[in-house]
Amino acid sequence: MTSIKMLGTGNGGTLNLYNTCFVIGNEQGVFLIDTGGSIEILKRLKQSNIRLEDIKNIFISHSHTDHILDLIWMFKRMSRMAKHGEITEKINIYCNDVVYEAIKGVSSYVLPPTLIEAIYHITNFVILNDDDKFTINGIDYEFFDILAKGTKQFGFECNIDNNKFIFLGDEPLNPLLNERIRNADYVTHEAFCLDKEESIFHAYEINHSTALSAAKTLNELDVKNLILYHTEESHGSDRKKLYTEETKSVFDGNIIVPDDLEIIKFSKEK
Ligand SMILES: [Zn+2]
Repeated sequence: MTSIKMLGTGNGGTLNLYNTCFVIGNEQGVFLIDTGGSIEILKRLKQSNIRLEDIKNIFISHSHTDHILDLIWMFKRMSRMAKHGEITEKINIYCNDVVYEAIKGVSSYVLPPTLIEAIYHITNFVILNDDDKFTINGIDYEFFDILAKGTKQFGFECNIDNNKFIFLGDEPLNPLLNERIRNADYVTHEAFCLDKEESIFHAYEINHSTALSAAKTLNELDVKNLILYHTEESHGSDRKKLYTEETKSVFDGNIIVPDDLEIIKFSKEK
């Protein structure tokens, strides 16, 4: 059985929430989606009983700090493990060409050459093109360009236990992708803040959505379950309640506002 564990659900500026990243896990292994931006990922993985040597597949959606930088911390730890024979199998890193250049560039400045040599010995970069398909841990994935207004960014769709699941990264849905999204069972979409607090957080000026605007858009496309993440953190433990309240009147399906470390299980009912 496949489930998702949210390692983080915050946006790029959060301190108490970790930046948005998660694992898709089943009996065949884990697939790490983004890494967040600090060494915190190592703690989150440990809390989730996921060993670094068990991560064989990583996807990085785009090259912004809150999605990519912890890969460098993982490299630092993993390269030492590789040097000592604790990691021997290849790790696939799925990303677009801009992400690839960013990883290579940053690594070259912040990691010593011996560790770079060790990590590149065990990594296999898979540079993604639009509509590329790969099977990872028994699940078929189709990666696609989300047609971001900002930095080049990829998402993916896959079938999990007969549910069409779509990961849309951290930009508002581009209408050119509407037909891909329509009728999906589960869609992840960013929600930078509550709509009633847009004037405080200015979601729109940094190319993000409010919870209400995201829910309205996805409701028009008959999405069944909407996962809202990549939020601000000012409401503490009331976040789930407030974001759900704001969106439930405009969304006919199920709204999920996960907390950090929450597990999302997929419905079998159709
Ligand atoms: Zn982000």
